Amino acid sequence: MIAAISAAYAAKGKINIIICERMARLGKKILATGNGRCNFTNVNASPQHFFGEDPIFTQPALSEFDIESTLGFFRSLGILPKEEAEGKIYPYSDQASAILDALRLEIERLGIDVRTGFDVKDVFVVKKGFRVVSYKNEAILADRLIVACGGCASPDLGSNGSGFKLLEKLGHRISKLHPALVQIRLKADFLKSLSGIKFKGRVSILVNDKIRHEERGEVLFTDYGISGPPIFQLSAYVPENTAAYISIDFMPGYKKEDIYYLLKQRAKALKHLTMESFFNGLFNKRVGNVIARASGIAKLSLPVADLTDEHINAIAANIKNFKIEISGLNGWNNAQVTAGGALTSQFNNQTMESKKVRGLYCCGEILDIHGECGGYNLQWAWSSGYIAGRSAAQSF
Ligand SMILES: Cc1cc2nc3c(=O)[nH]c(=O)nc-3n(C[C@H](O)[C@H](O)[C@H](O)COP(=O)(O)OP(=O)(O)OC[C@H]3O[C@@H](n4cnc5c(N)ncnc54)[C@H](O)[C@@H]3O)c2cc1C
Repeated sequence: MIAAISAAYAAKGKINIIICERMARLGKKILATGNGRCNFTNVNASPQHFFGEDPIFTQPALSEFDIESTLGFFRSLGILPKEEAEGKIYPYSDQASAILDALRLEIERLGIDVRTGFDVKDVFVVKKGFRVVSYKNEAILADRLIVACGGCASPDLGSNGSGFKLLEKLGHRISKLHPALVQIRLKADFLKSLSGIKFKGRVSILVNDKIRHEERGEVLFTDYGISGPPIFQLSAYVPENTAAYISIDFMPGYKKEDIYYLLKQRAKALKHLTMESFFNGLFNKRVGNVIARASGIAKLSLPVADLTDEHINAIAANIKNFKIEISGLNGWNNAQVTAGGALTSQFNNQTMESKKVRGLYCCGEILDIHGECGGYNLQWAWSSGYIAGRSAAQSF
């Protein structure tokens, strides 16, 4: 959508622009972003927040259509931005539909031809450009082609990986694809009892007992494992064929020794209670029960007065480093983005044009670029889409 708009701005009515969309409506995925609020950019957008074969590939597009240009563009369409924690930006109305409507209305105003239900099956390089054919055998001839098909993540929202096949057929190499920004599945028998509980803490991925990556923020237990923004970020660091663990620090602001003394005092003050009520006011009761069990307390009916020094030490250790084995990641249906994609070395990052096929451009998630959680992925789609559209229009 942004590539089409940018092409229209650059062409000033001199070219016909057509958007082919396989779904019944444009931009279905946008409605699901940011939990329905659309975290549409981040004030910190820069290459270090991106992954892929070569994250520096993003530099020219992110510098040219930077955060200021992005906010200016959306402001011109009526979107008042609102900054939240960690530089995340949302529309003031907190509605993802506002972003989609703004783009849709601009596309309408510019007279861009939108063909919904046009599922591109094949693309042929012909004498004057491209012949784009749908599953219903409709065909379009185009002088230039921008492939903005997204990746494989959340196929119900539109992008189903078909763009990779089109690019491969046109001679491009695609790196290994895997789901990213996705929930982590855990191996533990207590998950059902914790399902639905949220907490703010520090979470790390441990491989061979070494921290591979850590994040802080709000985490959600589910019946299969663990979710939430910090978990989405960590999902990129889960190794494929090596045992790995999630380590949870439930009290990141405290040292283990401080927790030990806090628990000692608590045990003295609450000696008339049983372990079932020991964590009341400190953690969610169900979390407390799981920590108690993991610390060798078999029965929650144990009087607090009977807690040993060994128990208290174990509880403090578990509060700081609660280890749970990772069994895998959720799949494509739950992933927010695709890690991997069309190798960026095959594209010119000043124009987004393919080095293999003249007149063919790519932008967004179909390229081997994905960002951290927090508005970076949409910013990449805006920046690369803007450059692709403008370059295609100016190439005549
Ligand atoms: C649940 C969810 C929440 C997210 N939240 C955020 C967020 O808050 N902030 C953020 O920055 N990022 C978020 N993302 C990621 C972000 O939405 C994507 O990275 C971004 O939309 C990618 O843009 P794109 O244009 O490259 O691809 P897409 O948005 O996937 O668009 C590609 C379009 O091409 C169409 N298409 C695909 N193949 C064909 C074909 N063969 N023929 C015709 N049409 C085709 C698809 O139907 C789709 O409409 C989220 C993703 C998901 C799934």
